[in-house]
Formats: sequence, C-alpha cells, structure tokens
Amino acid sequence: MSGYPYADRFEINRTLPEAGQDQEAVLAELSAMSTSENRVWETGQCSGTMYCGDHDHYDFLNQAFSYFSYVNSLQRDMCPSATKFEAEIIAMTLDLLNARAVKDTTPVGLITSGGSGSIAHAVLAYREANSAKVGRPNIIKPETAHPAFSKAGHLFGVDMKIAPVDPVTTQVDLDWVRANIDANTVALIGSASNYGYGTVDPITELGAIALEHEIGLHVDGCLGGFILPFGRELGYDIPAFDFTVPGVTTISADTHKYGYALKGTSVLCFADQALRNSQYFYLTDWSGGKYCSPGMDGSRSAGLLAATWAAMVHLGRSGYRGYAEKIFATSAAMQEAVRSHPSLRLMGTPSFLFSFTSDEYDIYHVNDFLRTRGWRMNGQQYPNAIHMAVTRPQTQPGVVEQWGVDLTDAVTYALGHKDDAPQTGAIYGGVAGGSTDEIDSIVKVFMADMMDQQSFIPAP
Ligand SMILES: *Cc1c(COP(=O)(O)O)cnc(C)c1O
Repeated sequence: MSGYPYADRFEINRTLPEAGQDQEAVLAELSAMSTSENRVWETGQCSGTMYCGDHDHYDFLNQAFSYFSYVNSLQRDMCPSATKFEAEIIAMTLDLLNARAVKDTTPVGLITSGGSGSIAHAVLAYREANSAKVGRPNIIKPETAHPAFSKAGHLFGVDMKIAPVDPVTTQVDLDWVRANIDANTVALIGSASNYGYGTVDPITELGAIALEHEIGLHVDGCLGGFILPFGRELGYDIPAFDFTVPGVTTISADTHKYGYALKGTSVLCFADQALRNSQYFYLTDWSGGKYCSPGMDGSRSAGLLAATWAAMVHLGRSGYRGYAEKIFATSAAMQEAVRSHPSLRLMGTPSFLFSFTSDEYDIYHVNDFLRTRGWRMNGQQYPNAIHMAVTRPQTQPGVVEQWGVDLTDAVTYALGHKDDAPQTGAIYGGVAGGSTDEIDSIVKVFMADMMDQQSFIPAP
C-alpha cells in the first residue's frame, strides 16, 4: 500500500462504508490533508495553480459559495440570483476586455467550467456557425496554444493546423498562418498569454488576417485575461489583445486563475451574440419536457457562480490592479535574477509568467537543484525550458531574495553536471518525460498509467 496517498494515516475506503462516520471525524481528516498540502505552496515557491493564496480571501469565497452550494442554476424560477450572478460576471468581464469597442454586433458571454471548457465552446461555436461550409472545418493554432484546442478539435471533429512560432520571440509565424488558410478554415487562434512562455501573440496582425479572410479570431486569455489588462494600465509593454483589436471575435478568460475565484468557472466572451447562440442546444420534442441548455453542462453549481461574482465585486478594478502591480513587479525582479546569469536565456518577452532555457547545459539540471530547495517549476520542451507563473504567494516578502540565492546555486550545480542526464523533464502537470517521435508511444503508455494511478486504489 505504500505510495497510496495517506495510506499510513487514514483508512482506505474500498467499499461504501455501512456505517457512516461522524461529521467531526470526516472534517478532521479533510483538514489534516488540506493543512499539510497547503504548506507546499504557501512558501511562494510553486509556479501557478494557487493564484490568490490568501486564506482570508478563500474563507470569503467559501462563505459566498455556502449560501448557494446546494442550488442547481438550471431552474432559474427557483434561483433568480443565478441570473444576476451570471449576467454580471459576464458583463464585468466584457467591460474588462473592452467589449464596448465592438460595433454592429452585440457582445455576450458564456460561463463554463474552466479554460478547457471555454476553449471547447469556442471551437464548437466556430464549427456550428460555419456548418454551411463544405468539408471538415479547420482552425489554425500557434504551436504554443494550449492543448485544449487540440482536445476540442478531437471532440468536435475540427482539424487543428499547427502554425510554427519564431524560436526567439515565441510568437506565431504570421506568414505561415496567411499561407495556410483554406476554404474550410473557420478561425485563427492567438494567446494572451500562452501557458508555456507567458508571451503574447501578435493579436493585431492576426485580427487583420482574420478580417481579410472573413474568419474568426479567438484570443486565449484563459491565463492573461484577468491580469494583462492591469499590466497594460500599469505601463508594462503588453500588446493590445482585447475587443479593441479589430477582428477579435471571441476571448476566453479564466475567473479561476487571476480572477481569484474558485476552480470551476471561466468566461467565454463573444463579440457577436449570433456566434454564441449558434452552439445553443435544444431538444423540443422530448417526453421529459422541452429542453435547452446554453453549453455542454446540464446542472451547474449556483454556488460557484456566487463565489465568482463575490470575488469580482469584492476586488473591483482597484483590487485586481493592486494584486497585478505586485505580481508584475515580483516577476520582473525574478526575471532580473535570470538575466544576471549569462548561461540562462529568457524565452521571448515575458510578463507575469517567464520561461528560461540554457544554451550551455540542459536546463533540467537547474530544475533538479531548485527542487531540492522547495521550488516547483513547470517544464517545457523543444527546447527544454522551465517556467514560473508568478502568483500572489510569490509576492510575499523574502521570496524574490530566496529565488536569487537558490538560482545562483542551481546554475553552479548545472555547470558542474553538464555531462550527466538530468532527473526531471517536461510534462504539463509536473512530472518527468520528454519525447521524440520514436518514444512517443512509450510516453503515452507512461501517461496513461499516470492517469490510471490518479483514480486507483492498489491491492492491499
Ligand atoms: C489554464 C489554461 C487553459 C486551460 O484551462 P483549464 O482551466 O486548465 O481547463 C487554456 N489556456 C491557457 C493559456 C491556460 O493557461
């Protein structure tokens, strides 16, 4: 049983227990696991994933959630509040992304369960809105765009044409995009910013191409949607990426990331209501009654809507701007430490998330060493690189200084281990890997096993 989480501390439930436990005992077990797991990121050494990190804020969200945690937002006659939450979350997000700049069409939104959900609904909408086109639809995505686009293509029968990126700027190759639009291309993708490098694609140029070809342009603002607008206000050099850019037709923005809400919500904004409505689902002749739903989910949590709404109205523009100010400053200081080492090289022009590589040694040596000091970076490949998505836990006093010290020691370690193989490698989510075509199938077996293990109790 060794290796199964908490096997040494808590009973393993292999069957539904006949007799239930006291609420107190259940809560004590949950509290023990939560407390020990929180310690890992509370230090400010984990890239991404914990965006706010403030337990007072989490308590506030939990309280907001608790008033509606048991409510199904499907039946609006019973919970008109859900309409208030949903409409206002969308309106506030459209406002942040400057949807007022849209002329001639009506900007609207859709709340989904996360970034992948928002991306999937965008892909579905482009497919449905272009269903009169002959042949299988395709979308052009930069290589750096999130895997959720390929997953949505896989789910909905839309091909993804993968555009290469410039190896120095990491931005999409516009000539390739132009040359590869065909009669079945329904949309282009740009990221603001992408997950790997934290860089922003040339959205203005992509918008011009989309307009010229009368196709859509989705901006993936899942990561940057709630922080880049404030970075721009603060004077950081971030290109325009929102609805002020002609040609932008949809933008995804994750409330569960820099929106500082709970996991389980994201907003997909549309410049045109007709595009959103093209993927509405109806079943009018069902014996169970006439049915419709705006997206893939049926029942949805009114509690999550309430918590997301609470986060947004509590923070307001000044709250988000204040958080962004510290995050951008922290990221800039951490990047300065990277620049101070001649053997390290930043990937492109990053902002709140930065990635770096080395042309002298495998950067995973740096990662190996940083792990011994408690840092948890995320890994990239082609070339090998590691990134830090700076969130609020990193803005605590002392974290930047610790980063400087540990990075210097890590570089010394890497220079001394140039000829050895590193222990860590790149896989989204954080364990080892690294692949070539030949070992692709072996990597997939390893990944399938990893996914299996995440929901499996080994034999006693
Ligand atoms: C996180 C992220 C996504 C996907 O979001 P999930 O909430 O994990 O499904 C998509 N694009 C970017 C740039 C992201 O950072």
